[in-house]
Amino acid sequence: MPKVFECKMCGECCKGQGGIRTTLEEIEQMAKYLKMDKARFMADFVRRENGFYYIKEKERDGQLVCVFLQDNGGCAVHPCKPLPCKLWPYWKGILSSEIDWRALMDVCKGFNPKVSFEEFVKEGMKEREKILGNRQDERRYL
Ligand code: SF4
Ligand code: SF4
Repeated sequence: MPKVFECKMCGECCKGQGGIRTTLEEIEQMAKYLKMDKARFMADFVRRENGFYYIKEKERDGQLVCVFLQDNGGCAVHPCKPLPCKLWPYWKGILSSEIDWRALMDVCKGFNPKVSFEEFVKEGMKEREKILGNRQDERRYL
């Protein structure tokens, strides 16, 4: 079966006011990965809003981008990036809307327009199981 999705590393999805939600557990993993003290990591890279933690943005070429987006389109914390990034593009909202899935092809070249929405959903559900495991809380909002 052809791949339903393959990231082209363009970095487009890491631009803008990201709103990438994270958790204390992930913060600890990312700080460790970057060999940083947790308090320093939080001060530099994390914003707290409405009781949740979010990754901060930085300005690049007059545009807001995720603070971890590298110049080559890669992610500075790739192996331990926050769950929304790990799950992309298999978010509930995308798996439940063929219209959104189709519309997202304009901004993300990773989607394969030659596969059907049903194939995308089937693969997405499998990937979600692998990534989410027993993280029940995140299943609800992602
Ligand atoms: S926009 Fe799509 S192809 Fe580009 S980096 Fe993000 S996931 Fe990959
Ligand atoms: S954490 Fe990494 S994958 Fe997620 S938005 Fe930032 S740069 Fe992109």
